[in-house]
Order: sequence, then C-alpha cells, then structure tokens
Amino acid sequence: MKNKRRLGFTTSFPVEVAFAAGLEPIDLNNIFLEGDSALHIRKAELKGFPRTICSWIKGNYAAALAADLDEVVGVVQGDCSNGASLTAMLADSGLPVWHFSYPQERTYIALDAEIRKLEDHWEVSRDKVLKVKMRLDQIRQKLVQLDEWTWQERLVSGKENHLWLVNSSDFKGDPDRFEQELDTFMRDAAQRDPIPTKLRCAYLGVPPIYRDIYDRVQEQGADVLFNEVQRQFAMPALLTDIVDQYLAYTYPYSVSERLADILPQLEKRRIDAVLSYTQSFCHLQIDNILLKKHINLPFLTLEGDQPEDLDSRTLLRLESFFEVHG
Ligand code: SF4
Repeated sequence: MKNKRRLGFTTSFPVEVAFAAGLEPIDLNNIFLEGDSALHIRKAELKGFPRTICSWIKGNYAAALAADLDEVVGVVQGDCSNGASLTAMLADSGLPVWHFSYPQERTYIALDAEIRKLEDHWEVSRDKVLKVKMRLDQIRQKLVQLDEWTWQERLVSGKENHLWLVNSSDFKGDPDRFEQELDTFMRDAAQRDPIPTKLRCAYLGVPPIYRDIYDRVQEQGADVLFNEVQRQFAMPALLTDIVDQYLAYTYPYSVSERLADILPQLEKRRIDAVLSYTQSFCHLQIDNILLKKHINLPFLTLEGDQPEDLDSRTLLRLESFFEVHG
C-alpha cells in the first residue's frame, strides 16, 4: 500500500509546494530513463505519438501511465514546446492534471501568482512552503559543495555530478533518504585523490539520453566539470524567497538567460571545451545556434535520439574532437 499520494511532473517546478502538501513528487524524466525506456517509447508510439517527436516526451507519457500516480503537474509554458500536448494526452488517459507555467514575462508578480495557484490547489500556506524550502536548501547547500568538488578539488567525476544534480529535481521523492545517501557519498569522496583531467569540459543542454556519454568522455582523458541544466535543477543560488529562486532558474527562459549563467561559469571553472547536447526533434536545437555563436571555445554539438549507448558515428566525432583539442 502507498504511504503518500504520488505526484508525477514533466519538468522541474516548485517542488517545495508538493512536499509541503505531503505528496511524493516524481520527476517523470528520471523514472523514464531508469525504467525500460525503449519499451516506454514503443508504447507511446503505439498510442500514436509520431516518430518525429522527442523521445523524452514519449517516454514521459508512458512512464506516467505505468507509475501508479495520483496526479500529474504538467509544465505547459517556459520549458518545452511539447509540454501542453503531452499534458493533454495524460489528462485524456484519465490522470488528474494540474498545469504550471513559467510566465513568459519572467516577473516576480506573474511567477508568484503561479506558485500561489499551486498552493491553493493543495491548500498549503506560503509559510509551510518556505519551511520546506529551508529544509531542501540544506541539501542543496551540500550539492553546491559537491559541484565545487567536481571542478575545484576534482574529488567528484562529471558523471557523479550529473547523477546527483539531475536527481535533485525531485530528491528521489524522499529528501531525508536522499540526504543520507548524499552524506555517505560525500564522506567517501572526501577520502579520494583528485581525479586527473587533461581536458576540462562543459556539458550544456538537457540531460543526455545517451547512457554512456560521461564514461566515453572520461576514457578520452577528459571530464565534465560543468553540467549546465543539471546544476540548474539543484537551484544553486540558494535564495531565501521561493519566487526569487524560481526566477533565477534559467532553464525555462530564453537562451540569453542561459548564456548569462553559462559564460561566467565557463570562465570560473577554466573550461577548455564545450559539449553541447541536443535532443532530436527538440526546439532547443535552435538555441544551440546561439550558444555556439556566443561561446568562444572549442564547441562540439552532439545529437541524441534514443536511450542507448553512443552510436559509432557520434563516438567517432567525440574521439576526433578530443584528438584535436586534447
Ligand atoms: S528534449 Fe526538448 S522537446 Fe524533448 S522534452 Fe526536453 S525540451 Fe521538450
């Protein structure tokens, strides 16, 4: 029997409100990739999702139906151009759906109103939400340290950094357990020797659908010292006010906001080269044109489609890139 009502969500949203309401939030992206992801995609295609729609959308749809959820929050503005249609399909499949938007104008008043709608929906007060936020920020503070250990002390690999930060979108549904596991990991990491790295790379874009990309990068003697979007999931600014926190979260806004975060991080972390990941059939491929234009470093664009290991062509491109710039 379930202890808590399970809430799926399509991308990061103010998860503090869900925890304050006593729900167990579940990032559909994470359960899609951790489960039988190829099967999820096949099931969505059998439902009629076209081949030319991003695999994350298809995977999120089928993962949501398989996850025994009580409700779904669909982020329908500011994140993904397919979010509204995905949410409509989930609603049509019988799941209760609540819509959340990152307002286009990116103002305090507009975002505050969206968060208040969530609070009203689950009947929780802002005070209670802020208490939860303070608790989550204690864990986020540790993730900020883990991130520093990735690019400064080099005690944490790019892959480990990716996994911890990507899972901070929902704290695996249980912040206390997540923190215990994080503490154990960091105690072990503190005993390590620094990881030697010939080429300091940044990884930009949505988390990879490729399963082995971080391993393949490390095999080349390089590593990822900056995971852009995953770091955003961890809300590293640690701002006191919840509205300010989600205004500072760059991912739902334009490429200019992302660049304002990325450029100083590339400099601070002394990044040598950029791996920019794009997902097949994703509108963010257009943003990648501007990332490439405004980042003055060796820049390799990778495109993934299915949840699988790197295909031989992409691996060859990666190896050639490291041969030239390593
Ligand atoms: S990869 Fe792009 S198209 Fe796919 S879910 Fe994410 S934002 Fe949407």
